[in-house]
Amino acid sequence: GGTPLYLGIDFGTSGARYSLIDRKGAVHSEGKRAYSPPVGGGGAGWASSWRAALFQLLGDIPPAHRPSISSISIDGTSATALIVDRSSSRTDPSMIHPHRCDDDLFFSLSARGCSETGELLAGPFLYNESFPDALPAVEAVAPANHTVCSASSTLCKLVSWWNTAGAGGGAGSAVLMHQSDWLLWLLHGRYGVSDYNNALKVGYDPAADAYPSWLMAQPYSRLLPPSVMVPGAPIAAVRDDVRSQYGLSEECVVCTGTTDSIAAFLAARAAGPGRAVTSLGSTLAVKLVSEARVDDARFGVYSHRLDGAWLVGGASNAGGAVLRQLFGDDRRLAALSRGIDPAAASPLDYYPLPRKGERFPVADLDMAPRLEPRPESDAEFLHGILESIARIEAKGYSLLRELGATAVEEVLTAGGGAQNETWTAIRERVLGVPVRKAEQTEAAYGAALLALKGADRRAGAMAS
Ligand code: ADP
Repeated sequence: GGTPLYLGIDFGTSGARYSLIDRKGAVHSEGKRAYSPPVGGGGAGWASSWRAALFQLLGDIPPAHRPSISSISIDGTSATALIVDRSSSRTDPSMIHPHRCDDDLFFSLSARGCSETGELLAGPFLYNESFPDALPAVEAVAPANHTVCSASSTLCKLVSWWNTAGAGGGAGSAVLMHQSDWLLWLLHGRYGVSDYNNALKVGYDPAADAYPSWLMAQPYSRLLPPSVMVPGAPIAAVRDDVRSQYGLSEECVVCTGTTDSIAAFLAARAAGPGRAVTSLGSTLAVKLVSEARVDDARFGVYSHRLDGAWLVGGASNAGGAVLRQLFGDDRRLAALSRGIDPAAASPLDYYPLPRKGERFPVADLDMAPRLEPRPESDAEFLHGILESIARIEAKGYSLLRELGATAVEEVLTAGGGAQNETWTAIRERVLGVPVRKAEQTEAAYGAALLALKGADRRAGAMAS
């Protein structure tokens, strides 16, 4: 009943959020649940806390809205993955078995009929976990400087497990799932589906829309999800047990997701080549929609596919972390900023890094932070820092242009620094293009937009 609604769920680094929107983009309901690291370490604990957060969030959605949900999509942190045994999936969906699990949460959820397939064989391997042991094997098969040639890539995680446990046996029915694949799977129950944003770091080639032959030649390639789709593609209806427990509609369709940073980019709705989002959080990250794909490992620059275009990104270590170190709390920062004339150029030339080393837009692992000379006035000091970070941002966009990307035409801003209107005006002067604050920056909102896309794609497929 009611206006059709679209549900996006974000699994970020510290918690999960949902956003329920209508076709016009208005938010009807939103909420969040924190998850904490598993007690005593242990990877499996993460999976159980994610699962708990997913079903808690579904339970947090006002019951009156639930029958109106047309579609659901989920984003997760990039390069977070699990290995699951698909042979352990239950055959009779009405049967409820106690799960072999290490905490009550798993059990209580399965006892409520929300889960019960696919025993966890390994992981979750978290986005920031590093597997240097797998690097030689990956570098031996992948092209030089490929995005998988980083110890924290999803492929290194898979190969590390394969070399220590997987190849030895018992891997016959093992499958690799990205975090969002797994969470979506808890809702729809089909194996083997992913999206090409999450699959990038396991080696998927989004231009060819296929796994490359060097990857398919490896014995572990049979663990890869065979069906890699565009983000926001309808996968299947919600499992009956989940649907009836939460009062969802039979029409509700589960759609492919994306990574959390792409979902946050989608939230800002920077549509079309030349549009960009700068995130001013602890670090400075730029993302630009480009007609051309640009990759350059020296600068940590790589491209995600975004429908018919590319999303080119780079991240500097400079950014808000230094502001907090120097000026303490954010209110002081805001007050000091109000005293700065953004039309006046600061003569101070800094490079504010929290520690030695920069990657983008300058690749120099030995680069030292530069915050001198320090003027007596704190406002002048801050002016110099804000302007210097703006120059780094401008240099970032010009580097992307030099590497072949579409020139930037408009910049939306996300993150703590987006609140600072003085900084926005300084950046506009330094960048020479319009700069404004993004209206929406929550990844969950971006995931909800993907759900909307999925519902439209399904309607289109049914009409044709
Ligand atoms: P993250 O998630 O990366 O920690 P946030 O997006 O929450 O970052 O932003 C926090 C950062 O924003 C802090 O490093 C802080 O210095 C910066 N920040 C907060 N308020 C302001 C402000 N008014 N002007 C500039 N920077 C700010």
